Amino acid sequence: MEIIFDGLRRLSGNEYMFSKNTNLSHSHLSVPNTINDVPPCIAQLLDNEESWDFNIFELEAVTNKRPLVYLGLKVFGRFGVPEFLNCSEATLRAWLQMIEANYHSSNAYHNSTHAADVLHATAFFLGKERVKGSLDHLDEVAALIAATIHDVDHPGRTNSFLCNAGSELAVLYNDTAVLESHHTALAFQLTVKDSKCNIFKNIDRNHYRTLRQAIIDMVLATEMTKHFEHVNKFVNSINKPMASEETSSDCEYAANMKNFPDNQTLIKRMMIKCADVANPCRPLELCIEWAGRISEEYFAQTDEEKRQGLPVVMPVFDRNTCSIPKSQISFIDYFITDMFDAWNAFAHLPVLMQHLANNYKHWKMLDELKCKSLRLPSENNN
Ligand code: AMP
Ligand code: ZN
Repeated sequence: MEIIFDGLRRLSGNEYMFSKNTNLSHSHLSVPNTINDVPPCIAQLLDNEESWDFNIFELEAVTNKRPLVYLGLKVFGRFGVPEFLNCSEATLRAWLQMIEANYHSSNAYHNSTHAADVLHATAFFLGKERVKGSLDHLDEVAALIAATIHDVDHPGRTNSFLCNAGSELAVLYNDTAVLESHHTALAFQLTVKDSKCNIFKNIDRNHYRTLRQAIIDMVLATEMTKHFEHVNKFVNSINKPMASEETSSDCEYAANMKNFPDNQTLIKRMMIKCADVANPCRPLELCIEWAGRISEEYFAQTDEEKRQGLPVVMPVFDRNTCSIPKSQISFIDYFITDMFDAWNAFAHLPVLMQHLANNYKHWKMLDELKCKSLRLPSENNN
C-alpha cells in the first residue's frame, strides 16, 4: 500500500497506479422532434433501456454517434425531469443536443457514448429500492444532469497531461481538478447562455441554487484523486451504521435518510462515481470494448507525450508494450472491487457483481496465458 503515497503529487489515482503498478452504417439522421418521433430501430433498442445489459454501442451505431440525445430524452422523460424543471421537451432536446455536440467524437473513450453509458448506469442505480427511497426528486434530477454533463469537452488527455503541458485549462484552474472543474463550468455556461437550451430558465432562484450545488458536487466527485476519501466516507457513514441497524426495515432506513442531507450527498457522490467506472461490471463483450477504448485513448496520450518530450505519466500505457489484461486487473484490484462491494451492500446489485467476477476471470485467464490483448487470438473476430 505504500505505493499509494509514494511520489503521489498531482497525478490522478489511476495514472499513479498505472505508472507504479507495472508488473454501421452512418446514414444521416435528423434529431427527433419528440420522444414519440424517433426512428423505429432506435425506439426498439431503447425499449430495453432499463436493463443493466442494455447495449450502448448498438445505440451509438444506430444514432450515428449521438446516443446521448436519444437515451437522454427517454430517461429524463421516465424520471419526470421536464415536469420538475417546468421546461418543454423542445428545450430539453435542444439542451441534450448542445451538450452532446460538445463531447469530442474523436476521443476513443471520453466521447458522448461514455456520457450516455454513465447516464444509463445512473438511471439504473436510481431505480434500486434503497437508492430511490433515500433520495428526493431534486437529487434524481441533479444526478441525471450531472451524469450527462460530467465529461463534456473532455480533450482525451488526463489532468496530469494538461498540467505538465501548461495548458490554458490547467492555468485557469490552478492545476486542481482541472477537467472536472471545466466540465461543470462549461456545462453551466453553455446552458444559461442561450434561452433555447436553458433547461433551468423556469425554476425559481432557490431551487436553481440547490440543484446547481448538487450537480457541481457530483461532477467534482468524479475526480479520482479523491477516490478513497469518497469511498471511505460512504462506508463509514452509510454502510456501517446500516449494518448495525438491525431493527428497522430497508424501507424505513432509506426513508430516514431524507432527514440527513449530508448522507444523501455521500450517496449521490458514490452513485456517480460507480456509474462513471461501471464498465468492468458490464457484460463481458461491453467490458472488453470499453477496455479497448480507454487503452487507445491512453496510448494516444503516451504517443503525444513522447512526441512533445513531456513526462510520460502512464508508462504502462505504451502501445508497444502494454498488457491490457494486466492494466484491467490492476484497475479492478485498486479501484473497483472495494468500491462496488460497498455500493452493492447498499444498493443490492447482484447482476453487476456477477459480471465483475466473470470479467475479472477473463483478464486473469488472458494474463496467465501471457496474452496482452483484449481477447485470445482465436477469438479475434475483428
Ligand atoms: P472520468 O474521466 O470521469 O471518466 O473518470 C473515470 C476514470 O477512470 C478516468 O480516469 C478513466 O480513464 C478511468 N477508467 C474508467 N474505466 C477504466 C478502465 N476500464 N480501465 C482503466 N481506467 C479506467
Ligand atoms: Zn467519465
